[in-house]
Amino acid sequence: MLNQEHEALRESVREFAHEVVAPVIGKHYENHTFPYDVIAQMGKMGLFGLPFAEEYGGMGGDYFALCLVLEELARVDSSVAITLEAAVSLGAMPIYRFGTAEQKERWLPKLLSGEALAGFGLTEPGFGSDAGGTATRAVLDGDTWVINGAKAFITNSGTDITSLVTVTAVTGTNADGSKELSTIIVPSGTPGFTVAPGYSKVGWCASDTHELTFDNVRVPAENLLGERGRGFAQFLRILDEGRIAIAALSVGLSQGCVDESIKYAKERQAFGRPIGDFQAIAFKIADMEKRTHIGRLAYYEAARLMLAGEDFKRASAIAKLYASESAVDNARDATQIHGGYGFMNEFPVARFWRDAKILEIGEGTSEVQRMIISRDLGL
Ligand SMILES: Cc1cc2nc3c(=O)[nH]c(=O)nc-3n(C[C@H](O)[C@H](O)[C@H](O)COP(=O)(O)OP(=O)(O)OC[C@H]3O[C@@H](n4cnc5c(N)ncnc54)[C@H](O)[C@@H]3O)c2cc1C
Repeated sequence: MLNQEHEALRESVREFAHEVVAPVIGKHYENHTFPYDVIAQMGKMGLFGLPFAEEYGGMGGDYFALCLVLEELARVDSSVAITLEAAVSLGAMPIYRFGTAEQKERWLPKLLSGEALAGFGLTEPGFGSDAGGTATRAVLDGDTWVINGAKAFITNSGTDITSLVTVTAVTGTNADGSKELSTIIVPSGTPGFTVAPGYSKVGWCASDTHELTFDNVRVPAENLLGERGRGFAQFLRILDEGRIAIAALSVGLSQGCVDESIKYAKERQAFGRPIGDFQAIAFKIADMEKRTHIGRLAYYEAARLMLAGEDFKRASAIAKLYASESAVDNARDATQIHGGYGFMNEFPVARFWRDAKILEIGEGTSEVQRMIISRDLGL
């Protein structure tokens, strides 16, 4: 599935991750600071524009290329990888897919160059998996939307370069009595739009996550993204794609665990020989490699179906479910192989362990993935 361009891209990002990200990310992680310098360099490499058309400043690549990049970044660090994933797949993609010509012209060039970031505001303090629970409301007052409500855990929503958040809100009632959901663009700095201080997180500590509140926030009617009432369909599409990206990110973390474990198993001595000589350790690493390999095949296949225009819902849920659970398993085993040092933050596996768990939660929990798969099987 990898052509020469994909191979070259993968190689350049692998080098970047080792030479630019690895030396600085530990400090950012420890201090919970956003790595603006690294992100700016990723922007210059064109990573934020990868799967977008050149007319908006994109690189004209495909979604699979984005996934390869995410894998290579997460192999070294997940905070940087999730910043890119959320910026492209959740931030710019809704505008690219559903926006008007004016919205695309206004917002995309800076998002695709990495000079600006956008957040995707779906989750609320009171609900996550059950998107029908949306309580944020938007009421049309003449030619202005008036938004009230709150969003929780929104990635890339509060950096110095965040330019907007797309917000899902109830805009009415459908004929069958269900909530009419729509998506609205809220530019950063709009009066009444408040970004809370960053959360204190277990992992992804160098990424940006905030709770947002909307208190009589007024934005022009033309900030509606796509058609009114299409919010539900829009975020389902965005999340189906996003799951492939999260699967790729999970595979990267799993691969990082394998890399670090092989290195350590060859160096660390116990009972007069390298611990890799013990079958208990070598077999653990063999199982880690097996999980990584299968996860990779699963996301490659989901991406292939998506790019072929075929139904990829089940495949993306399987890839996300398998790869994220494997990442948690690999991080646990890699930490075990490192013994006490695995519990020390200066070792990359400690970061992997802290970063793995969220992969089973974000962009649809493992339970939600099982719901998608079983429903697709007719259950
Ligand atoms: C660091 C971070 C970044 C995030 N970034 C974003 C972002 O950019 N944008 C955004 O919109 N959201 C974001 N999220 C939110 C994330 O997508 C949600 O946390 C996730 O979807 C789960 O929702 P919840 O936390 O409300 O859990 P809940 O939905 O309350 O679920 C709690 C538990 O109940 C289970 N559960 C719920 N319903 C069922 C059911 N029907 N059957 C079986 N089990 C069920 C869940 O699987 C879970 O185990 C982020 C979260 C984090 C932590």
